[in-house]
Amino acid sequence: MLNIILFGKPGSGKGTQAEFIKEKYKLVHISTGEIFRKNIKNKTDLGKLAQKYMNNGDLVPDNVTIGMLKTEVDSNINSKGFLFDGFPRTVDQAISLDNYLQKKKLKIDLTIAIDVKDDILIERILNRGLTSGRKDDQDEIKIKNRFDEYNSKTSFLEEYYKNQNKFKIVDGFGKIDEITKRLYNEIEEFIK
Ligand code: AMP
Repeated sequence: MLNIILFGKPGSGKGTQAEFIKEKYKLVHISTGEIFRKNIKNKTDLGKLAQKYMNNGDLVPDNVTIGMLKTEVDSNINSKGFLFDGFPRTVDQAISLDNYLQKKKLKIDLTIAIDVKDDILIERILNRGLTSGRKDDQDEIKIKNRFDEYNSKTSFLEEYYKNQNKFKIVDGFGKIDEITKRLYNEIEEFIK
């Protein structure tokens, strides 16, 4: 199995790049943001709960997100591997994921962060908001709040995975296919 985590602030292109990576390496793509959005669309209890957090650009509470993640992993346990996108976002989530995978005799192999400067990200997200319909993409205050959530909670994961010798960074500025190549290079370097 090959289990990868893709990190990046909102708008860094994680979702776009995840599509290429999952295709090439035949991984099951788990995007917690996408799962929440599907639940909101289908008006499930989980969706109703997540909606108020997401609309404000706040993180959904850990207990909810971790429970949902475990269900996703369980239902794809025989796959060739997982590509986690948007999870973990807190140290508690990372610890829960490690413990959970360990119970299944699995582990995270590699984590890659896509690095893009904030001013470029804000422009990209506001542009995406014009067509995505995402409330959290349309308001600069909510976007800034998502960055604050990243800086105050998610950024610690860099150290967490560096300590495990599993953290790589790629430059997320440039053409989509150039960035895809940078990501493939890191993965190939790992599996060679
Ligand atoms: P994303 O599509 O990854 O940008 O996520 C959109 C929103 O979903 C985030 O701003 C959070 O409100 C929520 N979300 C997604 N993943 C997580 C997570 N791992 N923990 C908490 N909230 C999350």
